[in-house]
Amino acid sequence: MNRQVKEFLEKVELRNSNEPEFLQSVQEVAETIIPFLEQAPRYKKAKILERMVEPERVIMFRVPWLDDAGEVQVNRGFRVQMNSAIGPYKGGLRFHPSVNLSILKFLAFEQVLKNSLTGLPMGGGKGGSDFDPKGKSDNEIMKFCQSFMTELYRHVGADIDVPAGDIGVGGREVGYLFGQYKRIKGEFTGVLTGKGPGWGGSVIRPEATGYGVVYFAEDMLETRGETMKGKTVLISGSGNVAQYTVERCLQAGAKVVTMSDSEGFIYDPEGIDEAKLAYVMDLKNEQRGRIREYTKKFGGEFFEGERPWKIKCDVAFPNATQNELNEEDARLLVKNGCFCVAEGANMPCTPEAIHVFTEAKILYAPGKASNAGGVAVSGLEMSQNSLRISWTREEVNSRLWQIMKDIHRICVKYGKEEDGYINYEKGANIGGFVKVAEAMIAQGIV
Ligand code: NDP
Repeated sequence: MNRQVKEFLEKVELRNSNEPEFLQSVQEVAETIIPFLEQAPRYKKAKILERMVEPERVIMFRVPWLDDAGEVQVNRGFRVQMNSAIGPYKGGLRFHPSVNLSILKFLAFEQVLKNSLTGLPMGGGKGGSDFDPKGKSDNEIMKFCQSFMTELYRHVGADIDVPAGDIGVGGREVGYLFGQYKRIKGEFTGVLTGKGPGWGGSVIRPEATGYGVVYFAEDMLETRGETMKGKTVLISGSGNVAQYTVERCLQAGAKVVTMSDSEGFIYDPEGIDEAKLAYVMDLKNEQRGRIREYTKKFGGEFFEGERPWKIKCDVAFPNATQNELNEEDARLLVKNGCFCVAEGANMPCTPEAIHVFTEAKILYAPGKASNAGGVAVSGLEMSQNSLRISWTREEVNSRLWQIMKDIHRICVKYGKEEDGYINYEKGANIGGFVKVAEAMIAQGIV
């Protein structure tokens, strides 16, 4: 590691020593940005990176609620308002028992660069709670969301901070959160994205992250004269991002053979087709069941407690959660012929795994570039809310497609190395950083 990077990271670590995920995300960015600063002394002098790793504001609060048995429950709520240089804070809410400040700061930090890459005027933030939605009744989910918003409402707003969904927060939760905000404030504004299409939501928002990650992979494959058609694909996760990644892969003529959840993965060598995907969507979004049930209906195999990376494939989409693909998995993927990995989740590949991919010179896209489609359509939802109009599916989808193309172009511009290899990680970090840095300089030392 370069000496300047090491010194920088030591300082960040001193102040955030118990935040491993945050430090991991900062290291990943610092390793490409600090060498770049040698060619951009203005950014170095203005201490842009030093400022960017310090959140503008962190809010932590108590979330008390009554469960169905009449017991008082207490969770912890958070909102990390990371950077507002290019627009209001924007980023999802995560409800998962693992949620803590380290995870939310890593997500918020990634979000700043990701939102910048979309070309839309959005700053970066992230929030959530250690609340576990699994096994809770609909009534309990509603009571929790109402209590969460009873504190959060004073920190957010259409021109201030606009949250959305993430793990454990889908259309249902956004609905309950929005209802409570509207009730407290007495105003109907675009304070959240991911709303229902009949009450201010944008069409294509549910599909956006999954579709976007495949659009991005298609652009990557094109640089090697390839397409998705006929490719064997591994997908992890079975939530929002995973489901629409499968859908778009099918549209593009690929064969998807795996999906997973926190209990294990299913392998269907025949391929997950439209009818099987419809079953998974109902299972996960309505019945709130486990992915293992797939094999009871359609055959194939369930691998308890495992992740799908040992299955032979051409393209892989890690779409579940952070650090779900390690060095050993990366080696197996490369050995079995996988030559394209596009992250649908945030930071699913460990730094060692990324190193394996870049050493092997396979196509690898970091989530801040390849999964930006979700927040991009959230940005389009904000525009539609401000204009008080709704665009059609075709219009939103074509804007999404164009945004993913533009992000790919930025990655190539900043990430192409002397031998022609496109280092998407470097390209995404520098491309996202430059726009935020320029805005921060223009706005003075704030
Ligand atoms: P969902 O809650 O809809 O789905 C999450 C999926 O990941 C589920 O299958 C879940 O399994 C699995 N999962 C969650 N935690 C773990 C874990 N610790 N170990 C193994 N599997 C796990 O979330 P999303 O699909 O929205 O989000 C998935 C990823 O994509 C996250 O990293 C998120 O930050 C990222 N992302 C999401 C965007 C969006 O628009 N929704 C935008 C950009 C990125 P189980 O049901 O068993 O918990």
